[in-house]
Amino acid sequence: MSVTNPAFSASSILENFTAVRGQIETTCHQAGRDPSTVTLTAVSKTQAPEALAAALSAGQRVFGENRVQEAYQHWAHQRGGLELRLIGPLQTNKALEAVELFDVIETLDREKLAKALADAMAKTGTSVRVLVQVNTGAEPQKAGVLPADADDMIAMARDTYGLNIEGVMCIPPVDQDPVPHFRMLKTIADSNGLNVISMGMSGDFEAAIACGATHVRVGSALFGQRNR
Ligand SMILES: *Cc1c(COP(=O)(O)O)cnc(C)c1O
Repeated sequence: MSVTNPAFSASSILENFTAVRGQIETTCHQAGRDPSTVTLTAVSKTQAPEALAAALSAGQRVFGENRVQEAYQHWAHQRGGLELRLIGPLQTNKALEAVELFDVIETLDREKLAKALADAMAKTGTSVRVLVQVNTGAEPQKAGVLPADADDMIAMARDTYGLNIEGVMCIPPVDQDPVPHFRMLKTIADSNGLNVISMGMSGDFEAAIACGATHVRVGSALFGQRNR
């Protein structure tokens, strides 16, 4: 369900990629981190085919999508060489389709979904990497496990369901300083021996990198404002 962006311009998307990559590199240097330890996930939800093509010509190969169906429309016909990451909530009845398309599912947050993913992977012979989403702000409307339940969810997903849990992900509350949330997620990752930390969006990816993000999920700073 792509929407045409009236302000679309392939050259501005290319400029945006150059700028964001530069900001990531500068922030890494300031934080004493090697830039190769931070992956830019381009969030391509709602984007038109022309915008996806512009991102590909800018050399981008890692994309985040938040709906399974839309991700198929965007990428199924040009899947080769890409890393696709599901960053939106997943319903158990879409687990099969999800494991057949995505390399990484960032939004595991309940046992029922852990079981559905394990079953789907067994059935399809796929082995998808998984992140546990943590609701660091304990917001009632938001997906993710509560911080106090994160360790148990990680252990259960690994030990009971055999999932390849490689990290954690969070979306801090929009109206708060994200830094305490980023620090909390980093602590949870470290205490569980997890190396992948997906945090930071267009407005706060630099702060996230300073707090240890390995994957930043950037949409509007690359593609322009979404016009949903
Ligand atoms: C849409 C979305 C993003 C990107 O947001 P921007 O502010 O446009 O960079 C990142 N993460 C998730 C989970 C999203 O749904």
